[in-house]
Amino acid sequence: MTDDAVAAVGSIEHKAFESPVYDVMGGSSRWDVKIHEHGLIALVDVMPRLVPEGQTADSAIVQAARVSYGEGTKRVNEDRGLIRYLLRHRHTTPFEMIEFKFHVVMPIFVARQWIRHRTANVNEYSARYSVVPDRFYVPTVENVRAQSTSNRQGGDELVDVGTAQAFLDYLNKCQDQYAHYEQLLEKGVSREQARAGLPVNVYTEWYWKCDLHNTLHFLSLRMDAHAQQEIRDYANAMYALIKPIVPVTAEAFEDYRLGGVHLSRLELDSLRSGKPMDTTNKRERAEWESKRAKMGL
Ligand SMILES: Cc1cc2nc3c(=O)[nH]c(=O)nc-3n(C[C@H](O)[C@H](O)[C@H](O)COP(=O)(O)OP(=O)(O)OC[C@H]3O[C@@H](n4cnc5c(N)ncnc54)[C@H](O)[C@@H]3O)c2cc1C
Repeated sequence: MTDDAVAAVGSIEHKAFESPVYDVMGGSSRWDVKIHEHGLIALVDVMPRLVPEGQTADSAIVQAARVSYGEGTKRVNEDRGLIRYLLRHRHTTPFEMIEFKFHVVMPIFVARQWIRHRTANVNEYSARYSVVPDRFYVPTVENVRAQSTSNRQGGDELVDVGTAQAFLDYLNKCQDQYAHYEQLLEKGVSREQARAGLPVNVYTEWYWKCDLHNTLHFLSLRMDAHAQQEIRDYANAMYALIKPIVPVTAEAFEDYRLGGVHLSRLELDSLRSGKPMDTTNKRERAEWESKRAKMGL
C-alpha cells in the first residue's frame, strides 16, 4: 500500500479502555509447569491479555456472542449463564475469540500424538538447523505400565520391578545412540540426516497457539482416560494453566463435557427398557457398562 492509499483509508482513531484493565497473566511473562524430568509446558501469552477489572478473559466470549462492546461488570451472572448456554449448545465460535500460546518441551512420541490436532498454529525446533539436545524421556521404575488386556491401545497395571528395570535398560541403550549422533556430526554428517538415528523418546519443543474452542477439544480428548498417560500429563497441566484465565468456561467444561455422559440411541433404549443393550458388540457393551457405572447405575 502506498502512503496515498493509506491516507485514503482515513486516520486511525485510538480509543481508551472504558474502565481500568488488568493483565490476565498478572504481569508475568510466562507460567511454567515442569513435566517429568526434562519436559515443560508454559503459557506464554493469551488473547485477550487485558480485560476490564473484575472480569476474566471469559468476557471476550460474551463480547463476541453479543457482538457489542463495553459490557459492565453488573452482568456477571447473566454472562455466566450465556457462556454455559453456548457451551451446552455447541455454539462454538465465541470460544474461538480467546487464544492461548504455549511453549512445550516434550518427547517426540508425545509430539506425534499432539500434532494430529490440526487446528493449532505450530512452530517447532528445527533439528536440521540446530543440534538435538541430549534429553530423553525415561519413566521412573515405579511407573512402567503393562499392556492392557482390555484396551489394545493402552497400558494400565504396573509391571514388576524386574521387568521395569529391563525396560529402563532398553531405553538407556537407545540413549547410547546420542554419542554416535554427536560423533557423526563431528565427522561432518549433516544434522538433517544424523538425527534419523535418534529414538522417539528424545525431546523436541514448539510454540503452540490455539483458540479456546479447539483447546477444549484437545483437552477433552487428551485428558481422557483413553489417552496415553504421558500426553495426559501435559493436557492436565495445560488445563491447570488456562483454568484461572477462563474460570467460567472451565466450570461449564467440567459440568457439561468432562463430567457429563453422552448416550447413544441404543444406550437410551436400554436405559428406558431396563433390558441389556441391543447389540452383540462386546466393546459397545463394555462402554455402556462403564457409562452406567459413571452414572451410579
Ligand atoms: C485416544 C486416542 C487414540 C488415537 N489413536 C489414533 C490412531 O491409532 N491412529 C491415528 O492415526 N490417530 C489416532 N488418534 C488421533 C485422532 O484420530 C485425531 O486425529 C486426533 O485426536 C485429532 O482430533 P481432531 O481431528 O478432532 O482434532 P483437530 O485436528 O484439532 O480438528 C478439530 C476438528 O476440526 C475439524 N477438522 C479439522 N481438520 C479437518 C479436515 N481436514 N477435514 C474435516 N474436518 C476437519 C474436525 O471436526 C475436527 O474434529 C487418536 C486420538 C486419541 C485421542
